[in-house]
Amino acid sequence: LVGTAPRYDYGVSVTDSTSSNHQPQAVLVTGGNRGIGLAIARSFADAGHDVVITHRSGQPPEGLRGVVCDVTDSESVDRAFTQAEELLGRPVQVLVANAGITKDGLLMRMSDEDFDAVVDTNLAGAFRCARRAVKGMIRARHGRVVLVSSVVGLLGGAGQTNYAASKAGLVGLARSITRELGGRGITANVVAPGFIETEMTDQLPEDLRTKYLASIPAGRFATTEEVAGVVRWLASPEAAYVSGAVIPVDGGLGMGH
Ligand code: NDP
Repeated sequence: LVGTAPRYDYGVSVTDSTSSNHQPQAVLVTGGNRGIGLAIARSFADAGHDVVITHRSGQPPEGLRGVVCDVTDSESVDRAFTQAEELLGRPVQVLVANAGITKDGLLMRMSDEDFDAVVDTNLAGAFRCARRAVKGMIRARHGRVVLVSSVVGLLGGAGQTNYAASKAGLVGLARSITRELGGRGITANVVAPGFIETEMTDQLPEDLRTKYLASIPAGRFATTEEVAGVVRWLASPEAAYVSGAVIPVDGGLGMGH
């Protein structure tokens, strides 16, 4: 590869990982076409960063650049990163692995397919994206990997064995990346949202909504922007020494677990 590798301006010093202070970072958000991922992407873009989102079909949201990606397919992930790097003009410096699905069901009735599909998207998908992202990060000696988990990954959830296992797995993934690559200026962290105001929670029956709210010390659901703010902080120079951490954004629901 020597001599043929593209020359990129990483925008950071190779000797000082904190020197990216307030420089625009090259950010890729998976599943950034809607929901929490879209709020994260808009938050980075509004702060002046260079953002590309992944989407599976249709067009990217207005004002954002997008590449098509299915995180269950390694070739699709590789292609998406290559296209994102072309759009960004440099390798991805911040990966936000947000794409995720649920296929809830009681353990005794859960099919292999539903278990595998959730783990393949939520956990293996994040692994595929992180594996591709760190190539450029290692060369730059700078990178931020943020994995979007869930309070359910830490507390468990009846009817969510597949989802909880996939989200708990992200903790081991982030901590192992931290151990492998912490010395190369790369951090890897997990954000664990609780209940978030989304289309899904909007449609909750009133009695269920009241029950959930009673279990949250903050007494309300979070906005998607509140999750985005924490993700953005983890990618900021101020968080350069935070790695292998699990940051809850759950109004106290998980009490720090
Ligand atoms: P949405 O269902 O609104 O969006 C999920 C996103 O993931 C979509 O962009 C979807 O793309 C994408 N996606 C799904 N499967 C794949 C795949 N195989 N390849 C690429 N992209 C895929 O979810 P939310 O915004 O609610 O959640 C975002 C993340 O936050 C998820 O990881 C979720 O588990 C987590 N979370 C959500 C909470 C909540 O209350 N909503 C609470 C805690 C965690 P497409 O549009 O093509 O389907």
